Amino acid sequence: MSFFDELPQRARSVAGAVGEKAREAVDSAKISAAILAEKRELYKNYHAIGQWYVCEHPEEVPEAIADVVAAVRASREKITELQTRREAAEAQEASEEPDGAVCPVCGKISSTKFCPHCGAPMGE
Ligand SMILES: [Zn+2]
Repeated sequence: MSFFDELPQRARSVAGAVGEKAREAVDSAKISAAILAEKRELYKNYHAIGQWYVCEHPEEVPEAIADVVAAVRASREKITELQTRREAAEAQEASEEPDGAVCPVCGKISSTKFCPHCGAPMGE
């Protein structure tokens, strides 16, 4: 006769219920993660449908989604504008004379006491 066989029936069922609860908690966390993963998949597919629709029907936008399509177009224009500004900013930064000393280790330019890129002392 094993130890568990000697336990009164009620104690065994309580122990079983506690074990069941612990398993349930682990499983519900896994299920929550699976739900989140599936929702991401769902949004990804809805996104694909929307993107396809807007590309395929540039002229015939139903009234029900006219606002959303207008917002999508405004965002695209904003992104294009920001990309142009970024290119100009990058060109500006590249053309500016760097201020500071050349790091003796990595060669980057900095006006700090220690190189912000590799941490080496900048020297004199
Ligand atoms: Zn450095």
